[in-house]
Amino acid sequence: MTIVKNIAVIGAGVMGRGIAYTADLSGFQVHLQDITSEALDRAETYIREELAKSVQRGYVKEGNDKKALENLTFTTSIEEAAKNADLVIEAVLERMDVKIDVFKKLDQICPEHTVLATNTSTMSPTEIGAATSRPEKTIAMHFFNPVHKMKLIEIIRGLDTSDETYEIVRNVGEQMRKETVEVNEFPGFVTSRMNCLIGNEAMNMLMEGVASAEDIDKAIKLGLNHPMGPLELADLVGLDTRLRNMEYLHQTLGEKYRPSPILLKYVKAGRLGKKSGKGFYNYE
Ligand code: NAD
Repeated sequence: MTIVKNIAVIGAGVMGRGIAYTADLSGFQVHLQDITSEALDRAETYIREELAKSVQRGYVKEGNDKKALENLTFTTSIEEAAKNADLVIEAVLERMDVKIDVFKKLDQICPEHTVLATNTSTMSPTEIGAATSRPEKTIAMHFFNPVHKMKLIEIIRGLDTSDETYEIVRNVGEQMRKETVEVNEFPGFVTSRMNCLIGNEAMNMLMEGVASAEDIDKAIKLGLNHPMGPLELADLVGLDTRLRNMEYLHQTLGEKYRPSPILLKYVKAGRLGKKSGKGFYNYE
């Protein structure tokens, strides 16, 4: 079985930077790639700040932060990032056409043994794997935000994913000190399917004037014991990403998942949540 030492992370947004940071802290050699150098700069700033906080709080020993930075590179070249990878974790936009394009390139660039994983929140690893010559080495590894704090990875096999591929990514998850669950392929898996519905209902309630954003979130936190309110969580995820998740679930699972009109309106206005400074809450 392939021993994973070298991980390429494709896409350096909210999730890619978190996956790269967590993989780096777990002792892997990491190459983080994005098509824009701005995204890579933001990711580097984020990782440096998180590392400094972790040293201050005693989670990372002083000196190990320097080592962690040495094992992490940032590049706009997918060839550079993936040519020596044992495992690639893709975290680009939640759009099937973009993901398939990336996987086709990875299939050409990567060595034969390389496992290709997608961090999709909702989409089919079977469809993504079918676009490559290695569906048996393609799988979904669904991380959560913020990656270094959240304990879970959902692992979803495509139709032709091999047992060996499953074991390789499960071991990597374990090395990252995560719990894993195996989920059969179905749109939205377990977590996104449930979470999108809760978030969408909260958005509809806000639109209907049932309560303010603050009071909806407070009610769900204190009354139902959720650690975060659904609206603050949607802001953390990114409202553009959430909208794409809803659109995919609406298309595949039906009417129940029709995106709330307020979500569409906010995305059109450029209110994308925490990452843009404004969403259901103001972060400016
Ligand atoms: P994001 O918008 O923050 O980042 C996406 C990044 O991908 C951007 O930096 C963009 O420049 C880059 N990109 C676009 N096309 C690319 C390409 N062809 N090659 C390389 N980079 C490219 O999105 P995100 O929130 O990080 O989501 C990424 C993936 O992770 C999506 O599939 C999403 O559904 C999933 N996901 C998101 C969350 C979350 O909480 N945000 C949680 C779990 C999974």
